[in-house]
Amino acid sequence: MGHNRAVDLRVVRAGAATDVGLVRNVNQDRILVTDRLYAVADGMGGHAGGEVAARMAVDTLRSSFEGSGGERELVDAFLDANHAVLEQSRSDASLRGMGTTLTAVAVVPGEDRRGTLVLAHVGDSRGYLFSGGELSQITGDHSLVAEMVRSGELNPAEASGHPHRHIVTRALGVDDRLEVDSWQLTPAEGDRILLCSDGLVNEVDDETIASVLGSVEDPEEAAGDLVRLAREHGGSDNITVVVLDLGDDDHDGPGVDSAPTSLGAVDPAPTRTGDEPEPLTRAVPVVRPPGPRAQAGPSGATPRAQVRPPRRITFRVVLFIAALALVAAGGVAAIYFYARGGYFVGLSGNRIVVYRGRPGGVLGWKPTIASRTGYTTGQVPGYALSSLRQGTLEPDQASAHAYVCNLVSEAAAVGAAAAPSPIGYCASTPTTLAGGNP
Ligand code: MG
Repeated sequence: MGHNRAVDLRVVRAGAATDVGLVRNVNQDRILVTDRLYAVADGMGGHAGGEVAARMAVDTLRSSFEGSGGERELVDAFLDANHAVLEQSRSDASLRGMGTTLTAVAVVPGEDRRGTLVLAHVGDSRGYLFSGGELSQITGDHSLVAEMVRSGELNPAEASGHPHRHIVTRALGVDDRLEVDSWQLTPAEGDRILLCSDGLVNEVDDETIASVLGSVEDPEEAAGDLVRLAREHGGSDNITVVVLDLGDDDHDGPGVDSAPTSLGAVDPAPTRTGDEPEPLTRAVPVVRPPGPRAQAGPSGATPRAQVRPPRRITFRVVLFIAALALVAAGGVAAIYFYARGGYFVGLSGNRIVVYRGRPGGVLGWKPTIASRTGYTTGQVPGYALSSLRQGTLEPDQASAHAYVCNLVSEAAAVGAAAAPSPIGYCASTPTTLAGGNP
């Protein structure tokens, strides 16, 4: 690793490995390796959801990020991937609640023979720079525990064994709006980039990772060794590793100025971009409008109580009043069907319940509880909580049931909550209870 000349940088060699691990039944991690785009996605969501989300994210990223794009284009490709996953989860009840992490690196050819890399990231997969024998984490985890460390509530040692370390606070496929962290990197020849899912870093410490990256020259072999080590340390999750060797495959290029430091320079502060860029602010849950607004009947739907009695009631007046009453009744009925026609998954205290109606109610029709799931906020992934607080609209009870059960099984699968009871809500098909007020 002696060369620190800034070069026409390219990924000279890439190696990747993935493994289901020793505990999970299915590998929900996905890898992308092309000649200039590299990514790791770690899907989440019960049943097939996690696999689908990770695969869609990676496929959309590849097709959306074309040509000679840079940081902005990579972030845009993330947003496209977010919408693709979200769209799919909305159109297929069995996939409701799925999501995925995504961490990607793209090579951007530079003008002055100093190519750069751009990195974009959402979730708790990670990107590291290995330079001069030192491993430094570029990405910050979007996880509950990492946020608690950043706010000083936990120290890193407490975080590493924390039971909630798998709870992701930002993921693709959860909301229309997505905040994507991104960086421009200017590493030096000989540096390595490591992308990995949390299944590696929860089992293998940084020192061990650094010693493998420092001693195993072939990136494919290094990736394989890291996966093997994670399995040997427990393999409690899917494990995915991508190792990129950076360098100059054109050694007689002009000797450009040397890199400013002996290490690859990394700007530690990510650029935050998204659909609605809000620099330096945390994502605030978006309040979703509760569907299309009901078309209230012509100025108020309720019939006027006092109609001054006309002096003589003619047949025409009777007809007119009847027509007026009909329009008013139609308006009331339309609002009633709007107000009572849907279902949403929300909270009653810390209990997760399925409501009939609209979040917040409509013109005096309050939502009523259609079914109680028996689950509490502690039994679903953290990333779902803000949606549940607002109420997540579902077309019918079966979709609501699928959504809740996907969330519960996801939380149980990552060990963040106890497995759902085999005789509970999720073991049965959805039933309709007579609604009563919460
Ligand atoms: Mg994982």
